[in-house]
Amino acid sequence: MITIVIFKRKKVATEAKRKIVLTKEITNSIITYAKSWHPNEGILILQGKKEKNVIRITGLIIPPFSTQGPYYSGFPVYELPFDLSYIGTIHSHPSGSNHPSLEDLNHFFGLVSLIICYPYDVQNIGAFDRNGNRMDLETECIN
Ligand SMILES: [Zn+2]
Repeated sequence: MITIVIFKRKKVATEAKRKIVLTKEITNSIITYAKSWHPNEGILILQGKKEKNVIRITGLIIPPFSTQGPYYSGFPVYELPFDLSYIGTIHSHPSGSNHPSLEDLNHFFGLVSLIICYPYDVQNIGAFDRNGNRMDLETECIN
């Protein structure tokens, strides 16, 4: 006996907006990292998982072109493998504006660009797509 199942798919007229989710640990690490680089910019590669329209950030990686930070000395950056879990970057803006610059958009990597600006609190984090449009950002509660 053969059973035939027909899946009916609803067509979505417009592309659903993606949402970025940051865990408490990731948020805290980003804040600490940005503060440690102030008044310079710091940058990290985001590791994450994409499920439907939710991108969940699960890890932070020091990029190979960055100088070594105080928390990751000895990290073998020259052995960084190509990894499909690298889905974007986060960098800091000591200026006080978390909007992406033209240069940021020209060097866009992955699916999302997170920017945290001075004074580096949770509400200073912004998420942007490669066109510079703001994406929804959800940070799991921190205190
Ligand atoms: Zn920037």
